[in-house]
Amino acid sequence: MDRCILVINCGSSSLKMAIFSSKCEFIASAIAERLGQPGASASVKGRRTEVTLPQHATHADALSALIECFHENNTITNGLLAIGHRVVHGGETFSQPALIDDTVIESIRACENLAPLHNPVGLAGIEATRSLFPDVPQIAVFDTAFHQSLPPVAYLYALPRYLYMEHGVRRYGFHGTSHRFMLTEAARILQKHEADTSIISAHLGNGCSVTAIRNGKSVDTSMGLTPLEGLVMGTRSGDVDPGLFDYLRRKGFSAETVHNILNQESGLLGLSGITNDMRTLIEQADDGSEAAQQALDVFCFRLARYIGAMMASLEQLDALVFTGGIGENSERVRARTLDHLLLLGFKIDTPANRVHGDASGGHIEATASRFPILVIPTNEELVIAQAALKGAKNVHD
Ligand code: AMP
Repeated sequence: MDRCILVINCGSSSLKMAIFSSKCEFIASAIAERLGQPGASASVKGRRTEVTLPQHATHADALSALIECFHENNTITNGLLAIGHRVVHGGETFSQPALIDDTVIESIRACENLAPLHNPVGLAGIEATRSLFPDVPQIAVFDTAFHQSLPPVAYLYALPRYLYMEHGVRRYGFHGTSHRFMLTEAARILQKHEADTSIISAHLGNGCSVTAIRNGKSVDTSMGLTPLEGLVMGTRSGDVDPGLFDYLRRKGFSAETVHNILNQESGLLGLSGITNDMRTLIEQADDGSEAAQQALDVFCFRLARYIGAMMASLEQLDALVFTGGIGENSERVRARTLDHLLLLGFKIDTPANRVHGDASGGHIEATASRFPILVIPTNEELVIAQAALKGAKNVHD
């Protein structure tokens, strides 16, 4: 067995790891959750191997425990070829994956205030693997990188210019790795070159964003300075009137409380008062919960509005693409969203939409639809593994 590629994705309180072969074939994955909290847990997927973690285990604790477990399982016996890290915010510095060295680490650190929940844990993961595997090339893959092609009309807020020039206040966009993968997959399915492919990609998971890709380049996206802007998400509000901040401040809410409300208590959870989980929400709506139905309706309506808005950036549209846990699995969300877009010419084929409700992927448009509509399972880990392999090859060549 040859050397493997390790992919690491540090969330605010979670750690996901995946192992790929040197040909980027998936081998194994693991997850640690509730890190930094009581009851932190970790397990290797598929094998149901539970890994014991200390109370309040950190990302570094979980990482070494899971690596140890992969060693015991003989998953990485021949060592590692490369390590790929997902990094949420690369600011304006990174438009490509980067081979990690001290300068890259400093640049990631400089973006910490743009992603305070994510970049510090991403760095913790990088530092932990650098000390565990000092000789293995490590590559950072940024959520923001794919959106560095956004034109100024799409990335500038109508704010005083110095906020952009001196404080970096602009729209960056996120989920770039997934949108990038949608481009590759859509081009493959449509048998086109990526550079000639224009799509609208809707990544709908716990976080949600929609991106306009024109001739292979991201030209508009719904997330902005932070991953809070845009669509309704699991617990995030997406767009609100910025006047809300002043209004709530006058009502006695602190900035921190408003931040927590918008990030953790809003979205599907806030609207329904029941859950942030779309599957449960749909069950509740079917059981007669009006609040659940309304949350679903607001989610789909906002999404439809954004898909419409993305048309402003395109000269042609080769496909509308759905992905992410919701986009891949929920025929209801897809159908309801597209009902709002009949005037633009999107028309779903109900049986095809049902068949592709199992994330198998494929075309779901009706013959009369003006545009193809695709369901494509995302695979961010694979994109990171491919980037890591490419980065490592450059080092070895
Ligand atoms: P992700 O963050 O991509 O893992 O997506 C998580 C979201 O996908 C959650 O809201 C899940 O409820 C949702 N999801 C997963 N499977 C289904 C399904 N069969 N129907 C509706 N939503 C689903």
